Amino acid sequence: MGVFDPLLELLRGLGTTFKMALDKPVTYQYPEEKRPVRPRFRGRHVLKRYENGLEKCIGCSLCAAACPADAIFVEASENTDEKRFSPGERYASTYEINMLRCIYCGFCEDACPTEAIVLGDNYELSFYDRRSAIYTKEMLLEPVPSVEMTTPRKVEPGVFTRSVPEMKDPQD
Ligand code: SF4
Ligand code: SF4
Repeated sequence: MGVFDPLLELLRGLGTTFKMALDKPVTYQYPEEKRPVRPRFRGRHVLKRYENGLEKCIGCSLCAAACPADAIFVEASENTDEKRFSPGERYASTYEINMLRCIYCGFCEDACPTEAIVLGDNYELSFYDRRSAIYTKEMLLEPVPSVEMTTPRKVEPGVFTRSVPEMKDPQD
C-alpha cells in the first residue's frame, strides 16, 4: 500500500458523497406527500356507487362466499322505491370487512356481479384495537358529490328494477 492510498480512498468517498448530494432526493414527506402506487396496487376496499349516486352493492354476498379469509360479512335488506339504496330488490344493510383477516387477494372484487367492491389505492390502514380493524359500510362507501345523491332516497316507481346492469359486451 502506497503512502497516498488512504488519502485517495478518502477523496473517492468524498466524491461519492458530493455526487449523491446533487441527486434529486427520493424521500417522500409523508403524510403531506403521498407516494404514487402502481396501477395494479391493491389497497383498502371501496364500495362504489353509480353516477346517479345509487349504491352498486346489491347485498348478494358473492364477495363473502369468494373470500378465502372469511373477512367479509354482508346482511341484505329489501329496497323500496320510497327508500331506495341500490337498483333491484335488495341492498346491503350491513357490510363489514375485517382488515385483520384480509390478505388483499382481490377475489371479492372478481366475484362481484356489479363491480361494487373495488380494492383502491388507499394504503393508510392503521388501528389501535381489534374492533377498529372492522371497516363498516359507512367507512367503505364512496362519498357523494351532492346531498341529492345520498342513499336512501325516493325514486320514480318501477325505474330501478334491474339489480345487475345490462352489459354492452358480455365478453367484456
Ligand atoms: S381481498 Fe381477498 S381476503 Fe380481502 S376481503 Fe377480498 S377476498 Fe377477502
Ligand atoms: S359487494 Fe358485490 S358481491 Fe359483495 S354483496 Fe355487494 S354486490 Fe354482492
